[in-house]
Amino acid sequence: MYLQVAVNIHIYQLLEYATPDENIEERKSSSGAAYDNTLGLVFSEDGAAPESGSAPASEQEDSGPIVPAIMKGCRVLVPVGTREVYGVVISQNQTPGASEDGSPRTGVRKIIKFIDSAPVFNSSIISLLLWAASYYHYPPGEVFFSALPPLLKNGSPARLPAIEGWERTDIREPEKLLSRLKKGREAWNCLKNQSLSAQDFKNMGISGSVLKSLEKKGLIRRINLRERESPWQQRDITVNHEFIMNEEQSRAVSEISSRSGFNVFLINGVTGSGKTEVYLNLIEEIILKGLQAMVLVPEINLTPQTVSRFYRRFAVPIVCINSAMSARERLDAFLLFSAGSAAILIGTRSAVFTPMKFPGIIIIDEEHDSSFRQEDGFRYHARDLAAVRARLENIPIVLGSATPSLESLYNVKIGKFHEIKLLRRAGNAQPAKIIPIDMRREIITRGLSDSLLISIKAELEQDNQVLIMLNRRGYAPKIICHDCGYVFSCQNCDSNLCYHQDRHILLCHHCETRYPVPSQCPMCGSPGLTITGNGTEQLESCLRECFPDESIVRIDRDSVTRKGVLEQYLQEINEKKHRIIVGTQMLAKGHDFPEVTLVGIIDIDSSLISDDFRSQEKLAQLIIQVSGRAGRSLKKGKVLLQTYWPRHPLLELLIRDGYDAFAQEELSKREKLRLPPLTCQTVIRGNSPSHRSLSDLMDEIYFLMQDVAGGFPHIRIHPPMAAAMERKGNRYHLNIVAEADTRGEMQKFLTVLVKRRNELRHLCGCRAVIDVDPTVTL
Ligand code: ADP
Ligand code: ZN
Ligand code: ZN
Repeated sequence: MYLQVAVNIHIYQLLEYATPDENIEERKSSSGAAYDNTLGLVFSEDGAAPESGSAPASEQEDSGPIVPAIMKGCRVLVPVGTREVYGVVISQNQTPGASEDGSPRTGVRKIIKFIDSAPVFNSSIISLLLWAASYYHYPPGEVFFSALPPLLKNGSPARLPAIEGWERTDIREPEKLLSRLKKGREAWNCLKNQSLSAQDFKNMGISGSVLKSLEKKGLIRRINLRERESPWQQRDITVNHEFIMNEEQSRAVSEISSRSGFNVFLINGVTGSGKTEVYLNLIEEIILKGLQAMVLVPEINLTPQTVSRFYRRFAVPIVCINSAMSARERLDAFLLFSAGSAAILIGTRSAVFTPMKFPGIIIIDEEHDSSFRQEDGFRYHARDLAAVRARLENIPIVLGSATPSLESLYNVKIGKFHEIKLLRRAGNAQPAKIIPIDMRREIITRGLSDSLLISIKAELEQDNQVLIMLNRRGYAPKIICHDCGYVFSCQNCDSNLCYHQDRHILLCHHCETRYPVPSQCPMCGSPGLTITGNGTEQLESCLRECFPDESIVRIDRDSVTRKGVLEQYLQEINEKKHRIIVGTQMLAKGHDFPEVTLVGIIDIDSSLISDDFRSQEKLAQLIIQVSGRAGRSLKKGKVLLQTYWPRHPLLELLIRDGYDAFAQEELSKREKLRLPPLTCQTVIRGNSPSHRSLSDLMDEIYFLMQDVAGGFPHIRIHPPMAAAMERKGNRYHLNIVAEADTRGEMQKFLTVLVKRRNELRHLCGCRAVIDVDPTVTL
């Protein structure tokens, strides 16, 4: 047999190898020489890329050549040049493939060994990854290996360990033993219809010690779930309904389930309209058919609260995949879902590559969220790949958001996506009203207007909660010398340093370098240093002065550093331990604060005048999302928006007519300016410690691109431009933007460009990457 293999090094081709049983004469020269000339130079993120694929010698224990029944999708160890690297088998053939000039290939080398006895990727995932490698113009082997769970990248066996699990004993009068045990009772209740693994309990926030104490009391016993597991499809699937769906929700469910096969649905539902309830009902139909459901959520939404909602509803095996889990936990979840042993996968971006044995449905919640986009290495958009995957698997995919991306709304407009609107809040909750505060007419105390302070006071007097959002962490974004005007900036970046009072440091928000707090100006020696601007730390301290008796909680990247802290704060907020909540956009994401009746939004003005054409879309999403945190229960909510431009057309439109009206207006603006999603962009991003070499390289790339574009009349190429932050982390960053009217044309152009990359010189220390469909242009 001859195998096409995607090897884990930075080359664009697949390599060919023979299986050990093939009777061939090996020659060292062949596939070893298939090295990319530009290895690690241009269009490579990492100068040292070739090394990353090397198999560590320690792990190569000798085992005889076992050839698996199905080779496609298995990991193999292969020789490349003088090294041994891991790869994944893409296809198998009886005869060797033709070489580039059409003649039969000679001197094919043999694989060293198979790592897997059964595939880790099925055909759908292989097709998906090959599609992704070709669409994003990234080396296929690296695409395949970035899709694998971390443990499988280094050749560890893809095997499931025993599952520690728990079941109820037949003990008499359990109630007596359970009295006064809060968590213990929760665990006991979950075991009513099923046995659960220790991991299940961990996902729900129930610790091992709770289980051990139940075991000691004789209430539950330990079992190996793997041994006794019967497929979940053969068990009774109990579904616990919390609500009866309202009319809009039922209509959404029946509309989606009435169409079979591949379809993309966009649930455009206002915040609090009960989208999750729709997903749960769709999943119910899917798992009752014995099929699996994959749910992708933004990292920050994957909390125990979210997950336990699924566990409460369904008595089926559920797995999670996110970056906070250990490598072993991620591997187990990957294997369980691949094997069809788990019915539901709830995961973040990279979970989109997990194979499904019984594909049923893919759901992407908060589809507009930027965390679905991978921004380094193999850059991809999980939403777009999920849609491609759903087409390959011929299953429905449901995207949901209260503020859909313009990309998705455009796809609705051209008929690619079916839109389903949920216009009302579920239950009886009323939408919150947004009211701008004209800052030109206000008395302002450290960034807070009197009108806002008066409203906060009034809400607190009624025992309501208030939420104040400022999208800037730290105490103050700038420190200036009062005498000479010197501004403290980062040595590695074109960026001001931010003063962090809590940590008593100056911090660069771009490279995270810390500096001691200065006592005098380095230029003129003056001790008169002043801070300007406002961050969440200062906002918090200002609110403490205004409301000294209140407990205030701050939620941002500095206060939520450890795992579990965010959940703890959310819990405390729900228990009303704090009535004032301060934070960054972290607060805008999906969390439910039923008692919040007032949302204050501070300082959005810089986004209204930004150069970035996406900043208004992002601002509108942020305003609507954070507004959606108010008035989610019976109490009516209101949103106060501080701005110096209360009559700004974007704000007026958004406030008067809502997000959809804003989005349509924005789409027609993009159409006039020929910007995405009406056109498509690719950015070549270059960086180097030397500005001179970088600009030489970018000029060369620019000329090559212009030359290639000669054959494509509708490709437009802009000359190299400085990135939004030109110097960052001690490297200079320049970009070249290419635009096309259609994806097809862009793809043809990029294919030729990548083929001709060998014409570029190797410039020391320079790197350049291709970013297709970027979500940030500059
Ligand atoms: P979304 O994801 O659209 O913001 P959720 O699904 O979180 O909304 O639902 C918002 C709130 O409404 C939740 O507290 C949920 O429990 C409640 N809810 C959802 N559907 C119903 C329903 N049919 N009847 C009553 N309450 C509901
Ligand atoms: Zn000075
Ligand atoms: Zn910096």
